Amino acid sequence: MMELKGKKVLVVGLGKSGLAAALFLRHQGAQVTVSDIRSAESLAKEIPALLDEGIMVEAGGHGLLTFRRQDVIVVSPGVPLETAELVQARNVGRPIIGELELAARFLKGKILAITGSNGKTTTTALAGEILKAAGYRTLVAGNIGVPVVGLIEQSTEDTWSVLEVSSFQLESTEQFHPAIGVILNITPDHLDRHGTFENYAMAKERIFARQDENDSLVVNADDERTEAAAVRSQAPVYWFSAKHSVSPGAFQERGWVVYRAVHQGSIERVMPVNKIPLKGQHNVENVLAAVCAARLARVPAETIAGAVEKFQAVEHRLEFVAAINGVEYYNDSKATNVDATAKAIAAFAGGIHLILGGKDKGAPYAPLERLLRERVRTVYTIGAAAGRIESELRGIAPIQSCETLANAVKAAAAAARPGEVVLLAPACSSFDQFENYEERGRIFKQLVAEQRDWKVKENA
Ligand code: ADP
Repeated sequence: MMELKGKKVLVVGLGKSGLAAALFLRHQGAQVTVSDIRSAESLAKEIPALLDEGIMVEAGGHGLLTFRRQDVIVVSPGVPLETAELVQARNVGRPIIGELELAARFLKGKILAITGSNGKTTTTALAGEILKAAGYRTLVAGNIGVPVVGLIEQSTEDTWSVLEVSSFQLESTEQFHPAIGVILNITPDHLDRHGTFENYAMAKERIFARQDENDSLVVNADDERTEAAAVRSQAPVYWFSAKHSVSPGAFQERGWVVYRAVHQGSIERVMPVNKIPLKGQHNVENVLAAVCAARLARVPAETIAGAVEKFQAVEHRLEFVAAINGVEYYNDSKATNVDATAKAIAAFAGGIHLILGGKDKGAPYAPLERLLRERVRTVYTIGAAAGRIESELRGIAPIQSCETLANAVKAAAAAARPGEVVLLAPACSSFDQFENYEERGRIFKQLVAEQRDWKVKENA
């Protein structure tokens, strides 16, 4: 823990977690300033509440002096550590920590932390449900949308905090020390911020940097970069694999999810694989990771099975929307990179009408080629990336330029036959036409609902 009373603390970045951190620090008796590059007008909602609490606000840019005057600086995950003012503050010896680090120093109880390039939110939500089903006092937070500092007051010695942690949050940790850490996978992402794949991977490895022999690390045996990280772990490593048996850890055997608690030990059956209610092999991986973590937290196998069977896909993650005249509609608006789209296509045997496009992220679409040939009837393009997608995928699958999501849903619904699938898994971010991926997913679901209303009328 750290003493905050009377300390001068600067919070950089006024997003959800920056705001929560500022309020927490103030309630601990610190003299708090927040600094954000956004203008005072765009922070009009937040500023009055902060001033009321006695928190000073610097908007529209960062002042060098503001940064130098502090005892501690707390950075929000959205703010790059290379920001000039932060670099200079670090050079004059100012301690800089992230919101996750701050929170973890005050949280009571145990932490189960989950990181990875894809699958974090799904696995975190699932692990949270399993621990709740076991009757544990469970709090779920982190990158999933709930600031970790917000949990501190509710946490007790017997609490399990299940935290989704991103590379941005891990980058600014020092003592962060989960009892159980999980690395789902490490594939290229966020290279615009981390510079190189290796830097990004090393940020993810911070999840276990402070772990020791009393902790546990759960690692994907099927993912090359993740497996490579495990040799550096001080904590005992448990594996999960959707492809082969592992020891110790969780894997599939003859249609069952199984768990082996000790190396070369006996195998315990947890649940039949076909009782997993989520689509796709990637979700089997997420379940295996959650099973392994939950067994390490001593949740009995039957309890795990019950919680997994009841689990519903998190909104916008390969979420079933509706079946209309035999056509199924799925919303995977969170598939904002090519790998996630590949996983979504692979979740269906064929007959896919795929909506692709949005704001291009620079990665090639070519890795989709084989899956497109095998399983996709038609690609419907939308948004700014349409041109690139069309030129890279020409000749691989029929393509219809639709420009907007509304046109794409209409065209796909008109073309799809019973037994086929309309899938929004756009491989791009949403910021060209939408506020965020959530809005894109919600609008998709509204458009599908309109289709249903029309079909009902047609059928009447
Ligand atoms: P994150 O929080 O890491 O972004 P989500 O659970 O929100 O993870 O899923 C993000 C996207 O990746 C979704 O499109 C989802 O269907 C896909 N996905 C989920 N789990 C995996 C996985 N283990 N490997 C690859 N893709 C995945």
